[in-house]
Amino acid sequence: MPGPAAPYRGRFAPSPTGPLHLGSLIAALASFLDARHVAGTWLVRMEDLDPPREEPGAAGRILHSLQCHGLAWDEEVLWQSGRTAAYAGALKALSASGHLFYCDCTRAMLGPDGACSGHCISRQPSVNPPRATRVSVPPDCRICFRDELQGLQNSHLGAQFPDFVVKRKDGLDAYQLAVVVDDAAQGITHVVRGSDLLDSTPRQIFLQQRLDYPTPHYCHLPVITNRLGQKLSKQNHAPALDDAQPLANLRLALRFLHQPEPPGEVATTDQLLDFAIRHWMPERIPANEAIPASTLGLQE
Ligand code: GLU
Repeated sequence: MPGPAAPYRGRFAPSPTGPLHLGSLIAALASFLDARHVAGTWLVRMEDLDPPREEPGAAGRILHSLQCHGLAWDEEVLWQSGRTAAYAGALKALSASGHLFYCDCTRAMLGPDGACSGHCISRQPSVNPPRATRVSVPPDCRICFRDELQGLQNSHLGAQFPDFVVKRKDGLDAYQLAVVVDDAAQGITHVVRGSDLLDSTPRQIFLQQRLDYPTPHYCHLPVITNRLGQKLSKQNHAPALDDAQPLANLRLALRFLHQPEPPGEVATTDQLLDFAIRHWMPERIPANEAIPASTLGLQE
């Protein structure tokens, strides 16, 4: 963990797979308030490292929505599409310390959750097969950390995510690697994000340990779910935020986070955020992993 004196640096790291929706606004707002409450720095990182999943124009729309909601970031937006050399450097370091192997197993050879059972290591490699790069995780590896909201987490990483992928067969850098490299490069001390990423955190801490990076503090928020119990997401066609209603959207997000209600006379996003920053009480956020949108009176 960074020392107590490390100045707070938080971030919001959307993937441009669609416009901002209420679920992503909640994550952006909570990380923003958590940083601003202690006069910390708040960054935006655009996780545009998976072009096949991206929607043209989404990155620009997301940034515009953040601005409409008064969520002004510090420093320049970091675009992951421009960070290939940094990811290659981290892979080189992992390879030099003997932590990587190359896997050409087909989907049929892989176990549940894409786990590699090591067929590729004993088999003669075919000529120039597409290969994924995997990091070796000892079978008994456990990662333990205290999430600020969800409490103590103890993951048997070696069983849950054995030898996970750090560079995909299609040549794209894996999310787990890119996040770890960029959180370290940006000096992130606090990660506030949705609980859908809670099971990614042990993989990220594992890579931080292998790369000698500090581990930030983690806080995983409840995610907002639709009536089928699915997380509101771009994939589930969550409606885009209406940028013309920023005050109503921010009030809803604050209600979801169980924060004090800003007074009725608040007329601008700056006034509303100023109130929310001063009254930020993360201990009031429910420690559930999911909360249905219907609790906010929404028809999702
Ligand atoms: N880009 C990820 C997403 O939109 C979030 C990454 C993170 O916060 O670590 O789900």
